[in-house]
Amino acid sequence: TKLLRPYFAFEKVLRGLFDITTELFGVRYERISDVPVWHESVETYDVYEGPQRIGRFYLDLHPRKDKYTHAAASILVRGTRETALPQAALMCNFPDPKDGPALMEYLEVETLFHEFGHLLHAMFGGHGRWIKNTDDGIEWDFIEAPSQMLEEWIRDPPTLRRFAHHHETGEPVPAEFLSKLRRADAVSRGLDTQRQLVLGTLSLEYYDRDPAALETTELLEATYRRFPLVPFHPGTHFQCNFGHLNGYSAIYYTYMWSLVIAKDLFSKFQEGKTILDPTVARRYRETVLAPGSRKPAAELIEDFLGRPLSFDAFENWLDREGR
Ligand SMILES: [Zn+2]
Repeated sequence: TKLLRPYFAFEKVLRGLFDITTELFGVRYERISDVPVWHESVETYDVYEGPQRIGRFYLDLHPRKDKYTHAAASILVRGTRETALPQAALMCNFPDPKDGPALMEYLEVETLFHEFGHLLHAMFGGHGRWIKNTDDGIEWDFIEAPSQMLEEWIRDPPTLRRFAHHHETGEPVPAEFLSKLRRADAVSRGLDTQRQLVLGTLSLEYYDRDPAALETTELLEATYRRFPLVPFHPGTHFQCNFGHLNGYSAIYYTYMWSLVIAKDLFSKFQEGKTILDPTVARRYRETVLAPGSRKPAAELIEDFLGRPLSFDAFENWLDREGR
């Protein structure tokens, strides 16, 4: 990541994200300045499709005192046809161009694309008749799929090289760095997946039985034993530090399930000679993003893929480790 940072100046990355999503989805973003915002550093953009304004978003992307310290996309207005355009905001903490060259980590670039995926889902899905069909009604085990899928565009070297230019020399990031990155990205993929399976299994099994008889540490150990790549350390009590057990309760699996869906959706983009084919992207937008929750996610996915969801793309991705 040290090698890569000089190629990820914040402003270039943001412009790259805007260009790529403009090309894919046929929208454009217009910066506006005459609306009230909660802090002077917040940028506001209107989203246009041709002459038509279809939504508005706010970017609050740099740290400041007492601000939220993670990264999230928040829906501010759930759009509905003829009554309100959708509005959303990104709250993140990326390096600030005010303080210097603002070089991002690779994982921060990934986060920006991820959160922008949520934001676009809100922009495109906020035009239905009922408010319940916006993000409010979208299944939890699908809602991370569009965001995780948008990350894929930075894993594609030709796409990344369009905006990853050295902040001093302007040179695109060398192909050699990207092949290193690809290998590094695959390291411990099996282990990470099993770790997610441990968490997903734990979260379900703590909630699917009578709590009176539940021995949480015993169940913890038994769960670890089912996934042999992840070591269990006797005498430890990870469950006490598993924050998602509140809030996510039994459905931690949604992260992994959304990833399976994201890989499968993305496989459609990989069938063409470029993943920037606007025809595929527009169809994805129309069939998967625009309907919100008007249909079950499984049907939206099938509408786009022309077949039911499959594990093949996910399995291929797992198989690629180390090659
Ligand atoms: Zn997310």
